[in-house]
Amino acid sequence: VTARRTPDYTTASWNVVLGCSPVGPGCDNCVGANAVHRFGRHPDPRIAVPMAGLTTPERRGTWTGKVSHYWSRLDEPTRWVKPRRVAVAPLGDLFHEAVEDAFLIDAFRTMHQAGRHAFFVLTKHPRRMAEFSRSLCFDERADDVYRAGVGGRPYLPLAPHVFVGTSVEDQQRADERIPELLRAEAARRWVAVEPMLGPVDLRDRLIDAYRWDFLAGERRGTITRDIVTEPRFHFVVCGGETGPSARPFDVAWVRALRDQCRAAGVPFWFRGGARPARGSVLLDAVPADLVVQELPLEARDGTQV
Ligand code: SF4
Repeated sequence: VTARRTPDYTTASWNVVLGCSPVGPGCDNCVGANAVHRFGRHPDPRIAVPMAGLTTPERRGTWTGKVSHYWSRLDEPTRWVKPRRVAVAPLGDLFHEAVEDAFLIDAFRTMHQAGRHAFFVLTKHPRRMAEFSRSLCFDERADDVYRAGVGGRPYLPLAPHVFVGTSVEDQQRADERIPELLRAEAARRWVAVEPMLGPVDLRDRLIDAYRWDFLAGERRGTITRDIVTEPRFHFVVCGGETGPSARPFDVAWVRALRDQCRAAGVPFWFRGGARPARGSVLLDAVPADLVVQELPLEARDGTQV
């Protein structure tokens, strides 16, 4: 029995890491910490006991800094028969500094081998994730992963059913974290603009535009003819803050982001949020043009569980 708080674009939670520490303004009303605080009072001790000591008893949703990772849960996805869209460690951060590299290798081994699922890894530590991904190697014959020395290069990036992503709450954090995410050796990357605390412009980031010049090789930058474009991101999720202290967001920010994704051909999923000027009330009547829940191709058959 494990606690489940599965984001709506996923169908399963893989709670291999519980606990976290705040790293920016997006963490102020951490949804994961609030959920852990609630689960800690669950009547079923199998749910409540693993939550003990992760949040402070007196303040709802405040992490203590204790982080637990569970070796015993590492093989869970291999036992799920039907394909699922799996939220990886939604009640913590897989790349928190307290999570040891050996654990990460085993977690990525499971993801690599459980190819019938789509995995969504989300971190606010994209630098560590990028460095880790650049040292992961795959042994195709053994269908296994191992870690080369730091700086080693994989001969295959992470497979397309493993989406690696970062969450950003405003333009400043987008400008800090997304360049780190772009360094990750992965076939699929994604961004969660959540909780959206301000407008976020991803236009320069969503697409890689280049032209192959047979004399000069690959040319990037502002190219007007014979352009080849490749999405750098394969999924964008957006949502406002929720809960009693939710900070409001502006639907105009969401529309602008949706339009950027449309122009770049990147699937976009809007999760709603607090209604502006109405505090904690959920955005119960999402404007029709913002009812957009698109999934990347590799994740479309994750069955509801
Ligand atoms: S990184 Fe994520 S899980 Fe950790 S405190 Fe911030 S919002 Fe919460």
